[in-house]
Amino acid sequence: MVHATTPVLIIHGGAGVIKRDMSPAKEKAVRAAMTKALEDGYAQLKAGKPAMDAVTAAITVLEDDPNFNAGRGSVFTHDGKNEMDAAVMDGDTLRAGSVAAVHRVKNPILLARAVMEHSPHVMLIGDGAEEFAKEQGITLVDPSYFRTEERWQQLQKALKEDGEKQPHADLETARHFGTVGAVALDAQGHLAAGTSTGGMTDKRWGRVGDSPIIGAGTYANAQCAVSGTGWGEFYIRTVAAHEICMKVSMLGEPLQRAAAEVINQEIPSMGGNGGAIALDNDGNIAMPFNTDGMYRGWIGADGVPHVAIYDNEPDPSNQPPAAPSSASAPNE
Ligand code: ASP
Repeated sequence: MVHATTPVLIIHGGAGVIKRDMSPAKEKAVRAAMTKALEDGYAQLKAGKPAMDAVTAAITVLEDDPNFNAGRGSVFTHDGKNEMDAAVMDGDTLRAGSVAAVHRVKNPILLARAVMEHSPHVMLIGDGAEEFAKEQGITLVDPSYFRTEERWQQLQKALKEDGEKQPHADLETARHFGTVGAVALDAQGHLAAGTSTGGMTDKRWGRVGDSPIIGAGTYANAQCAVSGTGWGEFYIRTVAAHEICMKVSMLGEPLQRAAAEVINQEIPSMGGNGGAIALDNDGNIAMPFNTDGMYRGWIGADGVPHVAIYDNEPDPSNQPPAAPSSASAPNE
């Protein structure tokens, strides 16, 4: 007998220092984009489509929105370019695709998916990745498409601060905020994960973060799917997304505990910071972060998009765990 699962979609739009004095217009725009991403992604799940379709539909909305550090609105490198990374992973088949250091791909998440589905490889970078994009009919745009004045000014500020010898946690956090990601559970009970980012403001030398590294910023298997956001070097060193999923799959830890151990203990103990969204195949949700906020959203059995930004806003991670029979019904 095929057991139908109640679909769930979770998204993030980055963890970090979130200014409480964010203008009402900006906060409204962020919440609206997150809501649209949840609606577009969940429509896929409601139509019986695979989790991967929900992940890419949601992330595409956020990549197109200039308020997030992914696609249009990506941060700038030291030499004034937008250089983007993205990855997807399918939990059912353990197939994955990722791209790094692309400059002209309108939606890097769609290219990552094409790498998974239409190439014999897992990860493509730079010019080769864009050559493959062209062959696949993926939309390429002029690099100026990604530029926003806000991100340009962030680079100018970072260039002035470059004299600081030691990376400073607050400074580093401010430099990368706004990465986007999604994890989904479809009606067949399969999970998928995806992450897309411009990386960190002022990054140099072809720096690649955790987002496109399978296991670091993005991972999914049959029991667990994770998308991370934060100071990428620490997510790579802890292999954070894989670590969370292995605690669930191999140690049988509850998802929320597994995610909290990595995000709230391991990463900060090494000097890093950030957050993650995680979902298991029973529809349990975890959204831990060790910063003062994380743009996050979820939609489940009630079909209502929920969005939260600050640490004092309730979400299914800081609510008492749902009863097993309603595990896939997140509530605010
Ligand atoms: N993790 C991303 C990176 O290091 C940035 C972020 O998530 O904010 O590239």
